[in-house]
Amino acid sequence: MYLSYGQIDPGFLLVIGAMILGLIASGAVQRTFTRYSRVGTRLGLTGEQMARRILDNYGLTNVRVERVAGRLTDHYDPRSQTLRLSESVYGSTSVAALGVAAHESGHAVQHAFKYRPVTVRNALVPMANLGSQLLIPAMFAGIMFGELGGTIMLIGAVLYGASVAFHLVTLPVEFDASNRAVSFLQATGGLTTEELGGVKKVLRAAGMTYVAAALASLANMIRLIMLGRRR
Ligand SMILES: [Zn+2]
Repeated sequence: MYLSYGQIDPGFLLVIGAMILGLIASGAVQRTFTRYSRVGTRLGLTGEQMARRILDNYGLTNVRVERVAGRLTDHYDPRSQTLRLSESVYGSTSVAALGVAAHESGHAVQHAFKYRPVTVRNALVPMANLGSQLLIPAMFAGIMFGELGGTIMLIGAVLYGASVAFHLVTLPVEFDASNRAVSFLQATGGLTTEELGGVKKVLRAAGMTYVAAALASLANMIRLIMLGRRR
């Protein structure tokens, strides 16, 4: 038995390719983070102290900095105005810790100054959640309902588009937070050029995971469209 073009689902290959890219990206971020977690900074500030310094510098004295369990679980919660730093960032003086702390502070600054892509992304959340929940049901319904299935898949793809848009808008949000982090650490953070180089590598690796996630959602949508059109 040999495989003809019709048997190999090119949309499926696209999804698998994006998944492999995601695995490579998350492996790279783990490795880079671990590597720069072992490199200390001359300044000796902890992630928490650097975040506090950045937030205070922008007048965000109301934003709290807390410790959160887990690894790479760092995030900014705009509802409670709390910046949560993981164990390996909060009390660490490493290059990696300062990079992550500055990046998360960048998100707090984005929220405070109503950075447009953040507003757009927040508005997309309900539709994006609905769209991503409908992906698998649309796929199954499409397979089960014959000719009507094609239409179901195409409607599913349109709704899933909100999830794709969410992932695409996440890119400027993440890259802007990293740019803010690097600018601050360079201007007022007191890091050496070499230390800053390490920060950039950590943040670039983290950024790639968002690129991979955006490509994966795009691949899912393309696959659904291709399956839908074939019916
Ligand atoms: Zn981020």
